[in-house]
Amino acid sequence: MTDLPEYEVYAIKYGDHHRNKSENFIFKDPHDGPMPIDFFIWAIVGGGKTYVVDVGFEYEDAKRRERNLTRLPSEGLQMIDIDPAKVEDLIVTHMHYDHCGDLSNFPNARIHLQEREMAYATGRNMCHGPIRHAFNVDYVVDLVRAVYDDRVNFIDGAQEIAPGISVHHIGGHTDGIQSVRVHTRKGWMVLASDATHFYANIAIPNPFPIVYSVGEMLAGYDKLRELAGGEEDKIIPGHDPQKFNMFPAASKKLEGAVLRLDADPIGDLDEVWLRT
Ligand SMILES: [Zn+2]
Ligand SMILES: [Zn+2]
Repeated sequence: MTDLPEYEVYAIKYGDHHRNKSENFIFKDPHDGPMPIDFFIWAIVGGGKTYVVDVGFEYEDAKRRERNLTRLPSEGLQMIDIDPAKVEDLIVTHMHYDHCGDLSNFPNARIHLQEREMAYATGRNMCHGPIRHAFNVDYVVDLVRAVYDDRVNFIDGAQEIAPGISVHHIGGHTDGIQSVRVHTRKGWMVLASDATHFYANIAIPNPFPIVYSVGEMLAGYDKLRELAGGEEDKIIPGHDPQKFNMFPAASKKLEGAVLRLDADPIGDLDEVWLRT
């Protein structure tokens, strides 16, 4: 038995976008159809502390990219009584616009980021339009400013953030994307973020088309399974609306907005991912 803390884990939806299946997979299926995408951040709560995973994007980006922004990610945290200004630890899984844009509302957070991700987002790969399309230079500059303010903890590979919470470089989707492993009352859980957007990406497998290295993305699926102890239902995809069919709402009033990921699942993964 372990005496590691058992954290509560929340997924907070802050927006969505209607699109077709063909936009979510590299290898195309001739039978196209609707397959919307949700936008989430995550909160890990335990031992009197809160750890936030990613910070989403703001209204300007929502308008430019025609995404529905239901609420600012920081407002989503307030719905579960987390004050963003008091958050001390912020894990940024990667620097795409939909994961690092609401930073100004977290003035006191130390930011945990892979060193490779900062090099990727500020280096020669950004000379290519299709790669930099998913970045917002203002958000990237905000993170550079955070470096100069001595607020960034650069990670090279894996690191324990607190007992029972660790980050792990995965790569593939971006060069420096990391996933988060967290200990809960149901054992280890892996917040994959965009290492797999949907349950279906890892299950088929068929990667999401925004990708730096297809080979590393596929190898990343194996890393996620290893981190989850081989239990695929413990891997939480970054953008899948099917999470609402897998986990209960954090409370009645938070239905459709906040999920409790450490609760007993309400769905069976083998059935849920096939609905996509
Ligand atoms: Zn991404
Ligand atoms: Zn994303």
